[in-house]
Amino acid sequence: SEMLLSARGLRVEYPSRAGGRVRALRDVDLDIARGETLGLVGESGCGKSTLGRALLRVVEPSAGRIEFLGADLTRLRGRRLRRTRAELQMVFQDPFGSLNPRRRIADIVAEPLLRSRGASRAEADRAVSELLDLVGLGAEAGDRKPHEFSGGQRQRIGIARALASSPQFVVADEAVSALDVSIQAQVLNLLSDLVRDRGLTMLFISHDLGVVRNIADRVAVMYLGQIIEVASRDDFFAGPAHPYSQALLSSVPVLRPGPAREQQPLEGELPDPADPPEGCLFRTRCPFATDDCRARRPELREIAPGRSVRCHLPLLPSE
Ligand code: SF4
Ligand code: MG
Repeated sequence: SEMLLSARGLRVEYPSRAGGRVRALRDVDLDIARGETLGLVGESGCGKSTLGRALLRVVEPSAGRIEFLGADLTRLRGRRLRRTRAELQMVFQDPFGSLNPRRRIADIVAEPLLRSRGASRAEADRAVSELLDLVGLGAEAGDRKPHEFSGGQRQRIGIARALASSPQFVVADEAVSALDVSIQAQVLNLLSDLVRDRGLTMLFISHDLGVVRNIADRVAVMYLGQIIEVASRDDFFAGPAHPYSQALLSSVPVLRPGPAREQQPLEGELPDPADPPEGCLFRTRCPFATDDCRARRPELREIAPGRSVRCHLPLLPSE
């Protein structure tokens, strides 16, 4: 299928407290196909949000390329960057924090449309009414203020705002994590309907594998700033191939696969990102680590069609 966005060698570094450099993203390669929802999972601090933000150029990568609509996003400046930004939007975790409490909902939702599409006020008002209908709030919500809405309704407002500039690519970062479970399901349904009906492509970032299983077509797993596994949703949940993915999945009891599969609980602490292990970055927590895992850092390689794993000894899917 056609790629909408491809990252190659994407690196983000921060200065560390000790005076060195922390690699928040370590040379990430990632392809996202047009129309798909890619779930991005991993423990907090693994670089999921940094990757989402780097793909939107909210965070500046220190190396690498992002191919999007025939251009390298990392090199765009000025008006071309502004125009391209309209195609890339974000739905945030916290509907309270991301909405200005003093502004009308209509103004909040219209903002990206006015800013990056150069729409007129009348065009924006019309589009906002349609969007508020689309997300199930009704056009009359436009005259009200954020505090008049519940958490789930505010998340719908955040989604309407993200869609206002008619983006092609949306990053949803823990977009339902702050919501009650019953409201989560409604917002997930809304997101998947929007992806289907508007031909959106979505990177869905979540620490919650149950939610990802509901919404994603494919799954990518991150650990210490690296992508360590990419697989279709069905292959991934039938049997992850990387020891870390397996540990993540086995810590979600409701998703436990059949009794034949050995469960490996995740032990040990996440290493200090400023002082990562040599060799495989997961080595210090991996129950299968060998001397080879200390000597050589594994590459992300394709072990089956559509399935890539960064491990010298990937677990083969069970028969
Ligand atoms: Fe474990 Fe070695 Fe695979 Fe790393 S390369 S995940 S240490 S088996
Ligand atoms: Mg995060």
